[in-house]
Amino acid sequence: MALSDYIHTFGQSLFALHGERIHKIALDAGFTCPNRDGAKGIGGCTFCNNSSFNPNGPEQKTLEAQFDSGRRAIAKRTRAKKFLAYFQAYTNTYAEVKELDALYRQAMTQHDIVGLSVGTRPDCVSGAVLDLLAGYRDEGFIVWLELGLQSAFDESLRRVNRGHGLQEYREVAVAARQRGIPLCTHLILGMPGEDASHYHTSLDTVLDIGVDGLKLHPLHVVKHTVLASQWRNGEYHPLSREEYIRQACNLIERTPEHISFHRVTGTASKDILLAPEWCSQKWNVLNGIEHELARRGSRQGCRAHDSAARAPLPKTDIAAPSPDGKIKILINSKNATGCQTPPNPVEEEILDAA
Ligand code: SF4
Repeated sequence: MALSDYIHTFGQSLFALHGERIHKIALDAGFTCPNRDGAKGIGGCTFCNNSSFNPNGPEQKTLEAQFDSGRRAIAKRTRAKKFLAYFQAYTNTYAEVKELDALYRQAMTQHDIVGLSVGTRPDCVSGAVLDLLAGYRDEGFIVWLELGLQSAFDESLRRVNRGHGLQEYREVAVAARQRGIPLCTHLILGMPGEDASHYHTSLDTVLDIGVDGLKLHPLHVVKHTVLASQWRNGEYHPLSREEYIRQACNLIERTPEHISFHRVTGTASKDILLAPEWCSQKWNVLNGIEHELARRGSRQGCRAHDSAARAPLPKTDIAAPSPDGKIKILINSKNATGCQTPPNPVEEEILDAA
């Protein structure tokens, strides 16, 4: 058995829809963040040292160089030949629409790039940006919007200086899905002041608003952050590995099967990670989640509520390769079902470099 026997992974979902392995290549396009430069706030989220999720380190490389190194890294562990350009670092919609269009199109001109995944904040996504992304879908590209929500509790978001609340998320989530843009939402377990009841409510809130993919992360403490000071002062206590695994499994069980997991844990490099130490061992945590679900005899969706509000997007990404090698989307195809297990389950997609 593998983790993908218990969880509907993003990799499985892409394989089922497109008939081949598709991986994300994580990119740093040189954006900043309105919660750092003063537009929304100063200092950023208390846990944020962006190099903790920037695969390219402090040195800014060209997109071409990042694609090359991403392809080489992925080739070591998978035979994927097609990729999504994953705009990951900082706030990847924080520019004029014309500039965004030029940047995204630059990525999509690569011969093996079949779409985009754009990570951003909920308060930084205008209707014009959503129209731009929806337009790429109409051209046949795979497009995902990734929103960092982290918690559905405004008080928790204030506590970490997030600079936005649930309402901004709700508005963008609804507007994106109304345009047929699939949405992946990021949630953090272990936010200061939160416990299991908060995690459950955050997940249920996101499900009720409507979502297509999820990323779960443990909150980890990295150098040069406010959270690092709080941790040193004994004001913040990270989750234990066992507690994270237990809580992540609870959320996985509550998540309907048609929703794909893009990630069920997160890591930081050892040179900046302060705590918890187990956050540097991705496979150890993934294996722990698999073993816990096996021990429970459960899997994703076994405790999900059934609700129309939690249905998949009406416009579902069903795609077939076209002669030009791009992916064409077939709207409302009869194949547009939820969780499907491909002949060769691909679990690596939830292990991308986010
Ligand atoms: S919104 Fe993202 S990039 Fe901006 S400060 Fe928070 S975690 Fe960092």
